Amino acid sequence: MELLNIKNLGLFGKKVFIRCDFNVPMDEFGNISDDRRIRSALATINYCLDQNCAVILASHLGRPDGQVMAKYSLSPVARRLNQLLKKEIILAKDVIGDDAIAKANALKENQVLLLENLRYEAGETKNDKELSEKLASMADFYVNDAFGVSHRAHSSVEGMTHLFDNAHKAAGFLLQKEIQFFGKLIEKPVRPFAAIVGGSKVSGKLEALVNLLPRVDKVLIGGGMAFTFLKQMGYDVGASLVEDDLLEEAQHIMDQAKKLGVKFYLPVDVVAAEKFSEDSVSKLVSAQEIPHGWMGLDIGPATVRLYREVLGDVQTVLWNGPMGVYEMEKFARGSNKIAHFVADSYATTVVGGGDTSDLVQRIGLDEEMTFISTGGGASLELLEGKILPGVLPLIVQEA
Ligand code: AMP
Repeated sequence: MELLNIKNLGLFGKKVFIRCDFNVPMDEFGNISDDRRIRSALATINYCLDQNCAVILASHLGRPDGQVMAKYSLSPVARRLNQLLKKEIILAKDVIGDDAIAKANALKENQVLLLENLRYEAGETKNDKELSEKLASMADFYVNDAFGVSHRAHSSVEGMTHLFDNAHKAAGFLLQKEIQFFGKLIEKPVRPFAAIVGGSKVSGKLEALVNLLPRVDKVLIGGGMAFTFLKQMGYDVGASLVEDDLLEEAQHIMDQAKKLGVKFYLPVDVVAAEKFSEDSVSKLVSAQEIPHGWMGLDIGPATVRLYREVLGDVQTVLWNGPMGVYEMEKFARGSNKIAHFVADSYATTVVGGGDTSDLVQRIGLDEEMTFISTGGGASLELLEGKILPGVLPLIVQEA
């Protein structure tokens, strides 16, 4: 798949709008804990600056759901960009309000403007046409470098692409790199191929799991999502995270795995806690013996040993989603152990998703992985064989 290339655009001295993915994880003090997504966008931004462009950057951060909320402001991102680019970053007070429009109009060659959080506008996630038009009116060119959100048909991702012709839009370097990497991985993964899937919610990853099954040999489940499966198997999971409306779906996934001969693994033991807190009482129990009212917050050592064995012969590993509440040290052990094992293996190791790359980076293993994708949901959808809505309009159509 060939994408419209930023290098073919006549950008020199022009105003360019770059949709970035600056949706970075933050710690409890509001500091950016993993700036990979910001650093990954620098190649495209620097290229545009080298072309003497006036650069307008836009991103979402978290889920403010159409409300202006200080905690979701992009100002920490502006500060980090300022450090990394060694350049003043003009931060607009809004997205398409008077301040953003005035600053975009006044923007000169070689200056960088960052709009406020795109999701302060309720229209962004609804692919609102008027929002796309207002954003598009700010610039001569549109570049999508936001791989992490390219699986969403949002105003700044999909909507805007229809307002620029092929000579005025393109994929940035990061988007190109991610699409190329996953293209190769889908075409010919070296087998056995294992997917390690964790994180909090089954709902976000259910469809991906169903679609991944025909492509992989093994699936290893961890994190909060494991408990929906364990409950469906008849275990008492106490107060662990469960999505009750998805129990049937969970059964469907396990049935499908069986039918396809995919080995499907669930935790056999967990670290259970009385409360969702770092200083809660906790103990190690088998997955069948979670005390009433307690919640499983990490995989236990027997699961780590089992998963280590299961991963022993694999040639390709895709890891998406932490094995436990890794943000709390007490429940980070399972994720850390799996991270070390994946990093040490000779397989092609692919890590996807903000949280998983954050945890890998926290323990200094990011350089040990074959590829760290900036997109979790987006990389899963690519592996399912889907064409992402934000990428589709940027594909070069063969004559
Ligand atoms: P996701 O966004 O679905 O990939 O989920 C990532 C989040 O899952 C992280 O913030 C983890 O703290 C959380 N998580 C992992 N394991 C558990 C668990 N057992 N219970 C609750 N949350 C969890």
